[in-house]
Amino acid sequence: MVDPELLKILACPYCVTRPEPAPKGTVKGELEPKPGAEALKCKQCGREYHAEGGILNLLIEEATLPEDANS
Ligand SMILES: [Zn+2]
Repeated sequence: MVDPELLKILACPYCVTRPEPAPKGTVKGELEPKPGAEALKCKQCGREYHAEGGILNLLIEEATLPEDANS
């Protein structure tokens, strides 16, 4: 599990470096735990960042893209 305290200060590195504002009601690049998986999902772009061996991997290049983002 990802530490809830850690979750508060983490943000999607992809979203925070982009000029687009976050959708209404969300914090820019806000991450939420993915149920049943050692992963965090970005509420803004849908990228999933995985944790391996308890270490969270926040590299944009290694994040899983949402399935509907083919462009
Ligand atoms: Zn994002």
